[in-house]
Amino acid sequence: MSKKIFLCSICNINSGTCLEDCKFCSQSVRYRADIERYKQKDMELIKQEAINARDNGALGFCLVTADKGLNDKTLAFVSAVAKEVQSVAPELRLIACNGTATVEQLLTLKEAGIKAYNHNLETSKSFYANICTTHSWEERYETCQNVNEAGLVLIAGGIFGLGETQEDRVSMLESLASLNPTSVPINFYHHNEALELAPNPLEVDEALALIKLTREKLANAERIMVAGGRELMFGKRQSEIFEVGANSIVIGNYLTTSGRAMSKDLQMLQNLSLDVATEVK
Ligand code: SF4
Repeated sequence: MSKKIFLCSICNINSGTCLEDCKFCSQSVRYRADIERYKQKDMELIKQEAINARDNGALGFCLVTADKGLNDKTLAFVSAVAKEVQSVAPELRLIACNGTATVEQLLTLKEAGIKAYNHNLETSKSFYANICTTHSWEERYETCQNVNEAGLVLIAGGIFGLGETQEDRVSMLESLASLNPTSVPINFYHHNEALELAPNPLEVDEALALIKLTREKLANAERIMVAGGRELMFGKRQSEIFEVGANSIVIGNYLTTSGRAMSKDLQMLQNLSLDVATEVK
């Protein structure tokens, strides 16, 4: 496992238009959450965000679309964005996160310059029906298998604090381990009042223990990334995530919520004498 910290920035290139019913997600149109919604982010804005992310130390740049999965139109848009971003920030490692995908679609993304694909299992197989009824956990697992088959780097994780039991958490981590992901993003549920789910019940010490457990259960993963909900979950104790196994974070804004300024994260790493990764497997 690399001790350098991999920084990743996410870019929501299509926002808030999803018809699925994932109960933790403010991007579903069903819950009418007060978020920004658009079909395609302006290409110039995406390129500016990419340059800004690179200039702040990000190595990963993730192109996210809010939908159940890829279709021809989304595939063409993500591919076009990938090519444009490479033209202005070739140093960035491009990641796509576009929901369920076939091997053929993933190969098209690979051709366009995408190096890795993020698709999360979200929670355990048995708890999944409690948080989503419009698609199955098995479909998610299959997409992760497709990523491996397509020869893209697999980034697969989940979200804690949805009301799942500890048994569910262990089960999800074991399922993730069976997919052998290179990077494991773990998210902590960020409650939005428009959503039906109860607020995240986790305490900071419990959340830190879950990062440690993720590190242990996914011993072969190159990176354990703390993604959405970091600031809200850990507050002033954010630096402790690196002591329990995290070696990657998302910097800047999240999909529908604001993160803190990238400079604050860089300062935190400097204070901890942690180096930022400048290359990756
Ligand atoms: S499929 Fe993705 S974007 Fe759509 S509601 Fe579920 S988590 Fe949100």
